[in-house]
Amino acid sequence: MKREKLAKPLLAAAALALIIWGGLPLYRHRHFDMPVVEGQGVTRVVRLSEYGPGLRGTMADTSVFVLEGKESGGKAVLLGDTHANEPEGLLASLLFIENAVVEKGTLYVIPFFNNSGSRNTRPGDGYPLYFEIPTDWGLFQVRMGNRDASPLDQWPDPDVYVHYPDKQLLSFIDVRNVNRTWPGRPGGPLMERVTFGAMEIMRREGVDVAIDIHGAETMFPVTNCIVAPEKSVKIATLAALNVKAKEGFENHVEPSPVGFRGLSHREIGDHSGTLPFLLEAPIPFLDQPTGPKTPKLLLDGKDPFLLSLARRKKLFVAYDESGWPLPKRVGQHCSVILEIFRQFSKRNPEKAIVVRNVPRYADVVRNGVGHYLLNPAGADRKNVVMN
Ligand SMILES: [Zn+2]
Repeated sequence: MKREKLAKPLLAAAALALIIWGGLPLYRHRHFDMPVVEGQGVTRVVRLSEYGPGLRGTMADTSVFVLEGKESGGKAVLLGDTHANEPEGLLASLLFIENAVVEKGTLYVIPFFNNSGSRNTRPGDGYPLYFEIPTDWGLFQVRMGNRDASPLDQWPDPDVYVHYPDKQLLSFIDVRNVNRTWPGRPGGPLMERVTFGAMEIMRREGVDVAIDIHGAETMFPVTNCIVAPEKSVKIATLAALNVKAKEGFENHVEPSPVGFRGLSHREIGDHSGTLPFLLEAPIPFLDQPTGPKTPKLLLDGKDPFLLSLARRKKLFVAYDESGWPLPKRVGQHCSVILEIFRQFSKRNPEKAIVVRNVPRYADVVRNGVGHYLLNPAGADRKNVVMN
């Protein structure tokens, strides 16, 4: 009897200790801010809640870096971390923020678009919470997130997510996926307020081009491509042909389906004058049949199981022992974005978007992503934004 009396509180204490021990790394990850150095092109930084007030004070509010050119011209929005487990989007947008010099036009860059998702993880899949990129000044620590916003920020999930305004029935989990909640509502679920804020930038500022930057499985047919609706397809096709001819990498065009709602490449164009594009680069880390989900796999994209599947022609991209390393993925994105700007500007000279000093595919492959990241410790503190 006495032993039983003692066992219960001891077990309860052990369970509590386990919860704290397991929860602390997740708590630290959720509150870990990454430094973003304002490059020479950044003219101001605002919060997304200035456009979507429903975000104020929430974990979904996020920084918007504005790069205004000397000359007015066209306007573009870049989105990274729509899916925060596809870090090539985040890193490509950081390369624009820290390097771009805008000669003409304005860029609005949102590197942590699903800020809540970037502070979430997938413990069941053994996702790393962080990974490190070598730079010229040391290791740069990146917060690895998840596809969906944290349930701590948006909860409970419905049984079925009813898309606004089309009333299409989507999977319950997509209510926390900002690439299903476009065009959003000011007072909708938190992720709808995120997309609403971005839509307000496009409508109020008269944005011409919006580019949503992703990574996709090598076993998924919509990978290594530019997804574009009818209104953007000409520019997307010319961009794809030009990077292939001039820079030697493949990036085909996929049409944005009309009947599948909530996606950026569909709703942005249908609800504003903006031309949307969604970029996918192959990220082997996301494929299901790989070895452990390690930072190494995230960085080099080398996996023996994918290699054997490639030999059986089960992948939608070319794949060999060289894997699909991060610099290749980020470099592709930089070149495709620059090429989309160039093609848009050729057709709309009065609204040209002219950006220089952003590395292209061959530069990033040769020098690595980290070579183009600025050292926060070496920058003026007022030019470092923690996000
Ligand atoms: Zn994605």
